[in-house]
Amino acid sequence: MNEIPKNIQNPKLKSGQRFSYHKQGNIHVLHKTQQPTIKINNPIFHKKISRGSYQYSNTKGNRRPRAEAQGIQNKTAFIKNKANPIPSPEKGVIRIIPLGGVEEIGKNMTAIEIGNDIIVIDAGMQFKTEDTPGIDYIIPNTTYLEERKDKVRAMIVTHGHLDHIGGIPLVMSRIGNPPLYSRNLSILMMKKRQEEFSHLPPLNTQTIEKDSVIYAGDIRIRFFGVTHTMPDSLGIVIETPYGSIITPGDYKLDQIDGVVTPKEEKEYAFLNKEKVLLLMTDSTNIENEGFALPEIKVHEGLEKLIRQGTGRIIISAFASSITRLMKIVEVAESFGKKVVLDGRSLKTNMEVCEQAGIFKPKKGTIIPVEDVDKYPPNKILIMMTGAQGEEFSALSRAANKTHKKFTIRSGDTIILSSSIVPGNEIAVQHLKDNLSRHGVHIISYHTSEEYIHATGHGNQEDIKWLHRKTHPKFFIPIHGWHSMLVKHKEIAMSLGMSEENIIVPDNGSIIEIVDNGTKMILRKEKAPSGPMMVDGFSIGDEQDVVIRDRVMLAQDGMFVLIATIDSVTGKLRKSPDIISRGFIYLKENQELLHQVRLIIKKTVEDETHGVNPINFDSIKTALGDNISKFLFQKTAKRPIVIPVLLSI
Ligand SMILES: [Zn+2]
Ligand SMILES: [Zn+2]
Repeated sequence: MNEIPKNIQNPKLKSGQRFSYHKQGNIHVLHKTQQPTIKINNPIFHKKISRGSYQYSNTKGNRRPRAEAQGIQNKTAFIKNKANPIPSPEKGVIRIIPLGGVEEIGKNMTAIEIGNDIIVIDAGMQFKTEDTPGIDYIIPNTTYLEERKDKVRAMIVTHGHLDHIGGIPLVMSRIGNPPLYSRNLSILMMKKRQEEFSHLPPLNTQTIEKDSVIYAGDIRIRFFGVTHTMPDSLGIVIETPYGSIITPGDYKLDQIDGVVTPKEEKEYAFLNKEKVLLLMTDSTNIENEGFALPEIKVHEGLEKLIRQGTGRIIISAFASSITRLMKIVEVAESFGKKVVLDGRSLKTNMEVCEQAGIFKPKKGTIIPVEDVDKYPPNKILIMMTGAQGEEFSALSRAANKTHKKFTIRSGDTIILSSSIVPGNEIAVQHLKDNLSRHGVHIISYHTSEEYIHATGHGNQEDIKWLHRKTHPKFFIPIHGWHSMLVKHKEIAMSLGMSEENIIVPDNGSIIEIVDNGTKMILRKEKAPSGPMMVDGFSIGDEQDVVIRDRVMLAQDGMFVLIATIDSVTGKLRKSPDIISRGFIYLKENQELLHQVRLIIKKTVEDETHGVNPINFDSIKTALGDNISKFLFQKTAKRPIVIPVLLSI
C-alpha cells in the first residue's frame, strides 16, 4: 500500500475515517467503509465508474448484489427505530434498563429512571471476539440515554475495572457528560483513561466516599464498601418511595471458612434495617459452589513461594488484580528484593495507585527492567503482564525471545497468578510451551500446591449470603451470560423468592416496578441494545455490514476484476485486470483466470450487444453474478467479487 496521492483524497472522508487504497497500474482506487463510491485518478477514465460487490450464495434466489441488500437493511432498521417510540415511565413507576452486561460478561451498564430523572450505573467495555474482527472494543448501546440526555442526572461508577469504566470516555460524551460519581481510585483510573481521548470534553468528576449521600435530581443515593480485587469498590443504594434498590457492583465476601469477618459484617449491617425493594447483582460465578477463596489465602501462598524461590521470580497476574499486585511488592520488599514492573497496563495501574496514595513502595524498590542483571537472581522479582498469552504482552515477548530488554533464563520461576479466561486456553498453552523451552519452573493455577489465584467475584455461597442479607422483594440478576442469570434466578427461588418477582433481563429489556411498588413487569418495547463497536475513530451500532464483510473476507477472500470497455463498440479494450486477496493463489491457477477472462468478455459482449447507450449497472450485475457463480463451481469458495468498470 502506497501513500495516497493528494489529488484523490476523497473530500467526503472525514479525518480518521477508514478507507482502503489500492494501486493498480495507473489506477488508484480509494474506498471508504460503508460508502459505495470509488475515486479513480486518471483523467481518461472519468466517464462512468460504478462499484458493487457480489457473493455467490447457495440460498434460493442465490445471487445478491450486496450493496443493494445493505441499503434495504439500513432503511428498515431506521423505520423500526422511529416507529417504536418508548413512552416515559408513568408517575410512581420505577424503570430499570440493563443496557449491557447481561447476555455476556463485560460492558456493564444499567439505567434507572424515576420520574424526570435517570441515573446510570457503570459504563464498561468488552474486547473484540472472533465474531468481530478488526474491532477495537465494544461499548454498551447508549441510544436510549442519548434520546433522553436532558434527564440523565448522574453516572455512578462502582469500581475502576474496564468492564465498568472502559466505555466511560465515549459514553459520557454521548449522554451529555453528566456528573460522574465514584471513589478516589476509580476516579483517577477514569481520568487516566480519559487522557487517551484528548478530543473529548473533560469528565465532570465528583469524588465520593462510601458514607457519602448524593442527590441525582430527586433521587437520593447512598453507598457501601464491598470487597473486590480492586480497592475502593462501591455498592449503591438507590432510595425510592417503596424501598431501596441495592446493587453491590462486583463483590465477594471477606470471610474465613465461611465466617464473614466482623469488618465485612459491619459494611453490610445497614441491610438489617433496610427495606429492599429490588436487588440487582452479579452472576459471574454463579456456577461455582461454596465461597470464593479469600484473597488473603493467595497472599499467603504467594508469600511462601516468594520466600522459597532461589532464582529470579516472575509473576504474571491480571493488571486489574490491584490489591494483589500491591501485596506482592510489599512482600518482595520484606525479603529485600527489587521489583520490576513490565507491561503497560500494569505500570499504568500501579502509577494510578501511587497517585491515589494507596501504593507506597520504598524508594529504590522498583527498578527498570534494564537493571535486572545488576542484582543477584534471588534479589529480583519481576511482575509482567500476559498470563492470558496475549500476543504482545511482556511475558509472551519474553517467552518467544522478542522482548528487547529482558531474557528469560533457565532457573527462573514463573508464577501464573490467574485463571484462564475462557477462549484463551490455546494462547495460554502456547505461552506455557514457549516458556518451558527456556528450562524454567512454571507454577500455574491448577498445578500449584499453594493458592496463587482467587476470583474477585462471589461464588454461590457469597451470593446466597447477600440474598439472605438483603431479603429483597424483587430481583434482577445481572453481569453474566443468559444461562448464568437463569441459574441465579433458580438460586434466588431456592431461597424462597417467588418466580413472578424475578425477571431475567436481556440487554435493552425495559423492566418496571409498578402499582406502588407491588409488581414488577417486563415491557414489550426494548431499548436499542445492538453493541456499539469502536472501530478506529468510528463508533456505531450499524457496523454489522462491515463486520460481516470482514468475516467473509477472512473466510473466502476477495476477487476484483477491472474491465475497460469501449463505450462506442461495447467491447473490452484490453484483457481485464484481476486482483485477488485471500482467495486462491492466482499464479498457480492460470487456467481458472483464463476462463474468468473469457466469461468477462462474453458477459460484457452479451450485455452490450444491441444496447445503446450501454447500461453499466446491468453489466456489473451480470459480471458479479456470473463470476461469483463460476468461482464457486470451480473452487467451492465464495469470495466477495467486486467488478470495476471503466469506460473510454
Ligand atoms: Zn471488577
Ligand atoms: Zn465486573
